[in-house]
Amino acid sequence: MRQAFRASILHCLSDPGERSLGSAYEYFEDGLLIIENGSVAEAGQAATLLHGLAEDVLLTEFPGKLIVPGFVDCHVHFPQLDIIASYGEQLLDWLQRYAYPVEARFSDPDYAREVATVFVDELLNNGTTTALVFGTVHPHSADAIFEAAQARDMRLIAGKVLMDCNCPDELKDDADSAYTDSKALIERWHGQGRLGYAITPRFALTSTEEQLAAAGKLAREYPDVWIHTHLAENANEVEQIARQFPSSRSYLDVYDQSGLLRERAVFAHCLHLDDHDRACMADKGGAAAFCPTSNLFLGSGLFDLPAMRAANVRCGLGTDVGGGTSLSLLKTASEAYKVLHLQNHALPATRALYLATLGAAEALYLDDKIGNFLPGREADFVVLDPDGSRLTARRTAAAETIEEAFFALLTLADDRHVEATFVRGKEQRPHKE
Ligand SMILES: [Zn+2]
Repeated sequence: MRQAFRASILHCLSDPGERSLGSAYEYFEDGLLIIENGSVAEAGQAATLLHGLAEDVLLTEFPGKLIVPGFVDCHVHFPQLDIIASYGEQLLDWLQRYAYPVEARFSDPDYAREVATVFVDELLNNGTTTALVFGTVHPHSADAIFEAAQARDMRLIAGKVLMDCNCPDELKDDADSAYTDSKALIERWHGQGRLGYAITPRFALTSTEEQLAAAGKLAREYPDVWIHTHLAENANEVEQIARQFPSSRSYLDVYDQSGLLRERAVFAHCLHLDDHDRACMADKGGAAAFCPTSNLFLGSGLFDLPAMRAANVRCGLGTDVGGGTSLSLLKTASEAYKVLHLQNHALPATRALYLATLGAAEALYLDDKIGNFLPGREADFVVLDPDGSRLTARRTAAAETIEEAFFALLTLADDRHVEATFVRGKEQRPHKE
């Protein structure tokens, strides 16, 4: 089946950097996106492409709207949806007071399924078509999120959490069950349609060395599954890591020594790293999830994007809900701009788009499948409405360039500005109650 969508189109071809390099992105003011069997056939100027369009192609027009690739969230916890915006604590106290109690509720598979359904529909509501997702320690939490994503044909990666120390007893697994339960989930879900599995130790503080070694063994046995964990988020956490793992050079080194630093390993936060860590992460192919709303909300620190990119570390944006305060990658990009501004760096709108699409796809080693509109990419895309609110309508109408208009939009937008979200060329509307 061939379809075509007419609107303004913006997508990235590489990282536009701090100067918004013009060759790194393409913009078609009156554009056409041609889809064949769920994949991109071509994107370009409507005036050129409409000429050669066969008569049987189904044409949908979105006048005044902007099509961008589906957003990719590099780090989010679906079980924490119901504790988003919880007051007053930094990381380690926040986990005890809010995160662990709500995660304990996931011992009930029905609750897990209900939250998973709301969560994936909220992703789509915000234009997010791919995410790397934490479950809870319960294996059925992974089943729940995979089932919900599969029903919507989403490219989604998730895993059950591994944690066997420094946490409530009801949330503990152990080294053996972490290995066998994760292995069973990999066999059940990894590579099923668009789904992928991530070995998911929560963070080094909540895993014994024995459990980290078991996770590393699994990572060696399944080199094409992902690894998903947290790294160097909070200063107190980093101090505790140094005490718990005295023989490791750094926090990152704890993971490296366990065999958990390799391609397809994604580390959320990465706030307190040194040059050696960054070089090591780039060298081994690990990636960083930049989670600005969470880092500000939990008072964790400021992500040094220029240093990470200068070291060639793959970087994408993460919402980190429930530490983060929004599932919207637009809102997340807007906070990323502020985090960089505080460090005297720039984040042009085109680079923000890169971090929410192609850069995130590169972090996940999925850039041959998603992230932009090159021919053959899976047709996941968002239709944004600059007129989604009165204020954005006025502000974007006054803009003189797409950079200015898109910057104003991402600074002001929310889910009201998502007109539609398409997954493999099919509109996926949230299930309304
Ligand atoms: Zn997190």
